[in-house]
Amino acid sequence: MQNFIYKKINSVEQATGSLAGPSGAIGAAQTKFLAGGTNLIDLMKLEVETPEALVDINALPFREVEKTNDGGVRIGALVKNADLANHDTILKTYPVLSQALLSGASAQLRNKATTSGNLLQRTRCVYFRDPSKPCNKREPKSGCSAIDGYNRNLAILGVSNSCIASNPSDMNVAMMALEAVVTIRSSKGSRDVPINDFYLLPEKTPEKETVLEPGDFITGVTLAALPAGSKSLYVKLRDRASYEFALASTAVIATLKGGNFERVRMAMGGVGAKPWRSVEAEKILEGGPATPERFKAAAEAFVKGAKPQSQNGFKVELAKRCLVSALTQVAKA
Ligand code: SF4
Repeated sequence: MQNFIYKKINSVEQATGSLAGPSGAIGAAQTKFLAGGTNLIDLMKLEVETPEALVDINALPFREVEKTNDGGVRIGALVKNADLANHDTILKTYPVLSQALLSGASAQLRNKATTSGNLLQRTRCVYFRDPSKPCNKREPKSGCSAIDGYNRNLAILGVSNSCIASNPSDMNVAMMALEAVVTIRSSKGSRDVPINDFYLLPEKTPEKETVLEPGDFITGVTLAALPAGSKSLYVKLRDRASYEFALASTAVIATLKGGNFERVRMAMGGVGAKPWRSVEAEKILEGGPATPERFKAAAEAFVKGAKPQSQNGFKVELAKRCLVSALTQVAKA
């Protein structure tokens, strides 16, 4: 691990400023914010991440889950994954989020990992984590080792010729189906970004994964109230039953009336360069009966445009079955 400056801060204003280092000011681009550190410290040990400064934000007041005036909920950036998953309001109102969180990582990691850290979780592509191998995401324009290498676990949707990495988070899949809004602060003020716009596709710049700019700081996530009678489910398929990343997962949220879908939101994990949502697939279901034929049609639409690689073609079928299974269970619940 390379040397770095460590600084603990007590206010957001301090978070958006620069730090004084041994050879002058350390700018925002060379600074990383430290919350739970479960991903960042891991990557620093591997020298995939080599910040000049770590700014510890754990003293900032973003640890609450609060109800909003319009019936939604605001989740602080530093709320631990375990606390969020077991929070009364989340369990009662957004159980799909709780299920997704509890399917990820281990109890120890969930006790440390935070909401904002989970939003920024980096890919598990083996070449990204190995600085001896070319990787466009870690080192722009160096090449992609995975395209002709080990790619069984990587993405089939939203990929490019520069990068085929998958987003590894479970929480982000539920957040996508819940249409979460991410609040970002910087020295210029605060802005809200819908989660679908928060993540960027790799295209020619896979090193840029989100709309965050140097110095930007996530303060929390807001979820709108779900329609009355909403039912939901998170289904995760993986090589082993615990402490494993998804090969395919899905969060489904739906309201039904008289056997017909009124409203459907669906997102998938393990298959996309970002948590993947298909509005086209949702529209196939909305306004019609909950039948196996329509589930299959929606699943086909969901994986439209998939670009499987040499080892992950099985994900196309797996994703469809995952989605059909979740829809079947939600319709019956
Ligand atoms: Fe790097 Fe992306 Fe290629 Fe993996 S898939 S080696 S993260 S560029």
